[in-house]
Amino acid sequence: MKTRQRRVVVIGGGFGGLSAAALLAHRGHNVELFERASQLGGKAGIARTQGADFDTGPSLLTLPSAAESLFERCGQRLSEHITLRRLSPAFHYTWPDGTAVNIDHDLGLTLTNVQHSLGQAAASEFEAFLHYARQIWDASAPAFVLGDAPSLSGMLRLNVKTLASLRHIDASSTMEAAICKRVRNPYLRDVLRRYATYNGSDVRRAPATLNCIAWVEMGLGGYGVEGGIGALVQAIIKLCEQGGVQLHTNAHVDGIVAKQGQTVGVEVNGRFVAADAVICNADVEHLKSSLLPLASRPAPHPQAPSMSGWNMIVRVPAGQAQSRFPHTVLFPSEYIKEFEAIFDRGEIAQSPTIYVCNQQMSHARRGWPDAEALFVMVNAPSVDRSSNQIDFTALSDSVMSQLTEQGVVSAASQIVWTRDPSGLAARFPGSQGALYGAASNSIFSAFRRPANRSKVLRGLYLAGGSAHPGGGVPLCILSGLAASRALMVDTGLSEPEQSVLG
Ligand SMILES: Cc1cc2nc3c(=O)[nH]c(=O)nc-3n(C[C@H](O)[C@H](O)[C@H](O)COP(=O)(O)OP(=O)(O)OC[C@H]3O[C@@H](n4cnc5c(N)ncnc54)[C@H](O)[C@@H]3O)c2cc1C
Repeated sequence: MKTRQRRVVVIGGGFGGLSAAALLAHRGHNVELFERASQLGGKAGIARTQGADFDTGPSLLTLPSAAESLFERCGQRLSEHITLRRLSPAFHYTWPDGTAVNIDHDLGLTLTNVQHSLGQAAASEFEAFLHYARQIWDASAPAFVLGDAPSLSGMLRLNVKTLASLRHIDASSTMEAAICKRVRNPYLRDVLRRYATYNGSDVRRAPATLNCIAWVEMGLGGYGVEGGIGALVQAIIKLCEQGGVQLHTNAHVDGIVAKQGQTVGVEVNGRFVAADAVICNADVEHLKSSLLPLASRPAPHPQAPSMSGWNMIVRVPAGQAQSRFPHTVLFPSEYIKEFEAIFDRGEIAQSPTIYVCNQQMSHARRGWPDAEALFVMVNAPSVDRSSNQIDFTALSDSVMSQLTEQGVVSAASQIVWTRDPSGLAARFPGSQGALYGAASNSIFSAFRRPANRSKVLRGLYLAGGSAHPGGGVPLCILSGLAASRALMVDTGLSEPEQSVLG
């Protein structure tokens, strides 16, 4: 029989909160999770429209080893809960001049595709770039992703061997400068620039270290999940339930209660719930401005949020789309201008990049029997950065006509669901509609991101995209693991040290 060790409250049921809750419950803690919305999953949401369910958040899973690590720590195997899908081809990139290139799950096939579509010189520089991106990942992951939050003082204490490996992380250059230095092919530059959007950053400012994302997807693999990313959420919910987590939805936490600098519980819907420790999965800005006791709130100094997005789900009658790929990306002729529009002017680009996920092809999601569901995204400024009223009706008309021209949708297709950045901002308090927490637009971003153990209150821990190690599904799962590890270390029940992705 398990010993119930600590009463832990988790605020929020996104990937970070659910992962922390599952692990702590499996370690014998008494865990209660409160989620303000009617469904769990946070940004990995589901919309029920015209009688079927669809994912409205993440559409690509990278680093499944993060989820595998969570399940293993709970004594289970991820593969017994979900089936990952290797996609071949995975991404279909197109440009207005008719150029197109496919990216595969298999790196060898990708290089063959690049050679076929863009020539041998492009394939060679692509291969060299991926080698460079891999070196960055190998050198940076242990210090910036897999371990505890990095600090500048901690960096100074690193041993010589670790410091030597950090020379590979290319932190003094920007993503854009490093891409342009290594790759001359203009189409490949666009493919590589787009990885800045995987954590919502500005390719012109983000440190070149983030070029490792290209390796994470193309080298380590980008997966679909049978049944949709929602199936991964459901699997972690099941893990929580098996561990005995009490899950509450429609339960808005109004505030954290503390006595003499120690967290003692939370107020939920006007009721006090006692806790020895609290894990906050809500956005850090919401924590700072609304959840912390008044006396513990820091002076407002918000970090600039990452990009937001405008989304829609399109119903395409079966057999009518001519262009069918799991993921399709329609680039404009000058992609770099999109970063200027979003980050310099607070606008959606005049000709934005259009991303489309075919949910049946990516995730074998059972949707409508007579139609396909396409999830569409256009990157947009976060709400606080938006300079003027954006005309989303005009945007959807323009996106639909481009998708029709390219054969991705047919004339009879129908928009059945949309969401703009203000919808995201309202749903996720403190987020400003950002998809990935704060933007990583400086070499110091990783050091400014809050650690998983609060510096303000004892017994308070942070998990989720706005805490270490950052946004995106695998990193949020890792943040849940890191927050739980910090809690267990503090309670003298430390988690055995092992590489999180080992
Ligand atoms: C459109 C879109 C596309 C994306 N695409 C990808 C992708 O392809 N691949 C990828 O890896 N990532 C992607 N992401 C990012 C990824 O979805 C997120 O980084 C991740 O899901 C965030 O998890 P989280 O742990 O930060 O929690 P969140 O999802 O932010 O959830 C936090 C939860 O806390 C709850 N909460 C907040 N305040 C309170 C309160 N006071 N009381 C109770 N509950 C509260 C919220 O309701 C929410 O459910 C995408 C995101 C979006 C929106």
